[in-house]
Formats: sequence, structure tokens, C-alpha cells
Amino acid sequence: MQTMDYHHLLNKQVKKLLPESYLEDDTIVQFLNAINNSFNNFDKAKNLADHAFNISEQEYQQVTANLREQNKIKQRSISQIKEAIKSLDPKAEFKMDDSDDDLIHIISFLKQRIEEAKLLELELINAKDVAEKAALAKTQFLSVMSHEIRTPMNAVIGFTHLLIHQDPKPEQVEFLNFLKFSAENLLVLINDILDFNKIEAGKIEFESVDFSIKDLISNTRLSLLQKANEKDIKIKLMLDQDLPNALIGDPVRLGQILTNLISNAVKFTNSGKVTITASLAQHDNEHSTIDFEVADTGIGIMPDKLDYIFDSFSQASSDTTRKFGGSGLGLTITKRLLQLQGSDIYVKSEYGKGSEFTFSLTFKNSSKHINNILNSDEFYSLKSLKGTKLLIAEDNLINVILAKEFMKQWDVDCDVAENGEIALMLVKTNNYDMVLMDLQMPEMDGYQTTIAIRELEGEKYKKLPILALTASAMLDIQDQAFTVGMNDYISKPFNPNELHRKIVEYSNKN
Ligand code: ADP
Repeated sequence: MQTMDYHHLLNKQVKKLLPESYLEDDTIVQFLNAINNSFNNFDKAKNLADHAFNISEQEYQQVTANLREQNKIKQRSISQIKEAIKSLDPKAEFKMDDSDDDLIHIISFLKQRIEEAKLLELELINAKDVAEKAALAKTQFLSVMSHEIRTPMNAVIGFTHLLIHQDPKPEQVEFLNFLKFSAENLLVLINDILDFNKIEAGKIEFESVDFSIKDLISNTRLSLLQKANEKDIKIKLMLDQDLPNALIGDPVRLGQILTNLISNAVKFTNSGKVTITASLAQHDNEHSTIDFEVADTGIGIMPDKLDYIFDSFSQASSDTTRKFGGSGLGLTITKRLLQLQGSDIYVKSEYGKGSEFTFSLTFKNSSKHINNILNSDEFYSLKSLKGTKLLIAEDNLINVILAKEFMKQWDVDCDVAENGEIALMLVKTNNYDMVLMDLQMPEMDGYQTTIAIRELEGEKYKKLPILALTASAMLDIQDQAFTVGMNDYISKPFNPNELHRKIVEYSNKN
């Protein structure tokens, strides 16, 4: 081997210290080769170490740069948080140059805020609880009040009706008519305020039941006919021949809308007529849209008042209440009831000539067929109902006397039960054509009694018409009446025409 092939450091030493002759000796050459390998290996390891060191150096630089950048972001975030905190709490103070202290400050500030928010949340939950309880108490109060007020009103209106029909002295007729006007007006007021309250509380739910639109409109007309007759006004009905036999919707609420409009039309008309029109506007496989119009030849409304008549408690002129009665809520309720069903109401009027109210409602089509009741005005004049036997379950003595008085006038044979248990016993031992059932009675209430009657053995008990006598206009009470198996309801104080009509309708005697 040539000396120059060795690692340059070894070469140098060999040349300097080792005579050439030694390189002939194999042992020495082997020794030198081993040393040469060690030198070369050392060099390789050193190169690798240098390379690794260079890379770490670069990484170190990069990491440092990143840290600096992150620190800047942190500082920026801290300043932004500080600004945000200052805007929330202008009195908050920070040491501007010591960011770690600031962080501690921020964290304690946020902790405090979270604690405050939690407390606030608790307070809100409590307040909501209190408000809900108050709302419930209000609803219950209204329901009780409604019952408490209507029961005596039932007597006042009922007996006034009876007195008017019992040949009063001429000078008494006027007083009795005043009494009737005031009592009926008070009742409208109570009903309007209760309904308005319910709508404002968002408590109105619309039913979806099958009903006959033609019956509903003609029955609504009939219930107001007496008022119109008293004023010598005709109520004309124009029903489109194409109106579907049955529809699905909320007949109670539609009845209320029509009653409001027709009773206003009658109220504000002194001569001429009121015309109710219902026509089919659109019809497809699923839905039918019906256009309604209530027009009158009455006093009309001044153009500048037209926009206000739908506002709560507003009447077109200040002497309206004195002359015509009313709360100024009827049209507000009507408009809200339509809006809640996705519709609206429109009015056209010519002062001194008359007014025209129109609205449209879309209903689902019904597959049922409802037999229309034959309606004719004469048919419902309060004719004798001889041969009809009915049971009145009612605990209020005045209501009982009143109801019996009506029954006497119509030749109806009637029994009275002052609680549910007696009613059940009488139903078992007699053949009644129908039962008028008060809902609130001692021992067994009207709901329990109805359930018990429907559970009796025998088809006739399933079919026996049971009509709720309800002092409350509230929908949930009517709903409950249908749920327990009652056929219909009559709200107290009952209108004699309506009571007569329902007896005819359900007793199958005419
Ligand atoms: P009210 O209880 O007074 O009837 P409404 O809200 O039903 O309250 O009506 C508000 C007002 O609109 C009435 O007071 C009356 O001035 C006017 N109005 C409503 N309907 C008619 C109508 N058919 N003809 C004339 N004026 C009407």
C-alpha cells in the first residue's frame, strides 16, 4: 500500500515519523490500515454531526421566529380582549405593559362575568316561572269570572225575555227593552274581553273538524234574526250552489267572525237589509277557498275612520257606545282571528249608504257528507215542541227555574237533576230525547256523568243526544265537552231561539 492513500493526517505522521522500510512489514501495514480506518470513520461521524447540527440550527431559528409571531398574536388578542372588556366595563383597569398580569386580570374579570351571567340566568328562570304562574292564575281567574258573571247574566237575560213575552204593561215594555239591551250588551262585552285576552296571550288554537258551511252560515243568520226582526231589517242569504257540502276547519271561530260582522251590520242598520254572501272562489282536490261578504244598507263609516275601526277599543264615533253599545273589540278580534288563519279582512263603505266587509278563507276538503238541516224562518219560530221529553242536569236554582219556564212555553216535558248522580239514575229509568248537561255540578260533574252514560249497556245510551250547558265561551271547555262524547253545546246565558233550535235539531221530534 502507498502511504499517500492514507487519511491525510495519518499520511503526514507516517511521512514524518516512519522510515520507508517499515512499510515493508505486513504487521505495521495492517496496523496503519486499522488506524487509517479509524481516521476515516471519525471524519464520517464528524460530517454527520456537523450536518445534524446545521439542521437543528435552522429549526431553532424557525421555532424562535414562530414563537415571536405567536407572541405578537397573543399580545394583539390580549389588547383586543382588553378593549372589549373596556367597552363592557369602562371602569376596568389593566397594567398595560405586563401581559401576564393582564391575562390573570382578564381571566378573573371573565370569571366574574360568567358568575354574574349565571346569577342573571337564575333570576330570569325564576322571573319566567313567576310570570307563567301569574298567566295561569289569570287564565283561571278569567275562566272562573266568566262562569261567575255568566250565571247571573243567564238569569237576567232569560227572565227579561220571559217578562217581555208575558204581556207587560205598556210603560214596562220600554224598561224591559232597556234591561235586555244592557244585559245583552254586557254579555258581548264580557265575551269580547275574554276572547281578546285569549288572542293576546297567544292561546287561540284552531280546530280541524268536519262541518257544513251552509248550516253554519244559516244558523249564524238565524241566531241574529230576532234582533233584525225587532228592527224590521231583513237578513238575506246568498249561498253559492257550488259550496261544498262539508269542509274541514274551525266552525266555532268562523261562526264567531260571521256573528261579529252580521251583528255589527244589524246593529248599524236602521232600515233596509243585511246581505250575507258566500261563494266558492277556488277549488281543487285538497282545498276550497270561500269568499265571504257581509253588506248592509246602514249608517256607513266616514272615510277617515275606515282605517281605525279595526283597532282595539275604537269606534267610528264617540256616541256609538251610547247609541249602539259594543266594546270596540269585535272587529279587532275578527281581524286577528283571520290573520291567525293567514287571511285578512277588507271594508268598503259609503257614509250614510252602507258598508261591506269581505274576507276569504281556505279550508281542507272533507270526504264526509253532512245532512243539511232544513232551515226556514217559520220553522224556527218558537213553536210547540209537544211530545219532547228532556232532562236538564243543572244545580243552579235560578237557571233551573228559567229553563223550566222556557220548556213550559214550548210544551216540553222536562225533568231536572241537580247533580250528576241523579242525572245518571234518571237517564237509566226514563226515555229522554235529549239531555241538557251543566258542566260544573256537585258530586259528579257534567263530563263524568256523560262518560258514565256513554258506558251504560245499550245502543240508546250511546246515541242519546247530550248537549253541554256551558257558561264559559272558552274553547278548551268546549273541546273537552266533545272529547267526553257530548254532541254539542249551548252557551249560557242561552238565547231562547238557539235553545229551541238545538232541541229541534237533536230531539228528532220534528
Ligand atoms: P263595536 O263593539 O263598537 O261594534 P267593533 O270593533 O265591532 O266594535 O266595530 C268598531 C266600530 O266600527 C263600531 O263602533 C262602528 O263605529 C264601526 N262599524 C263596524 N261595523 C259597522 C257597520 N256594519 N256599519 C257601520 N259602522 C260599523
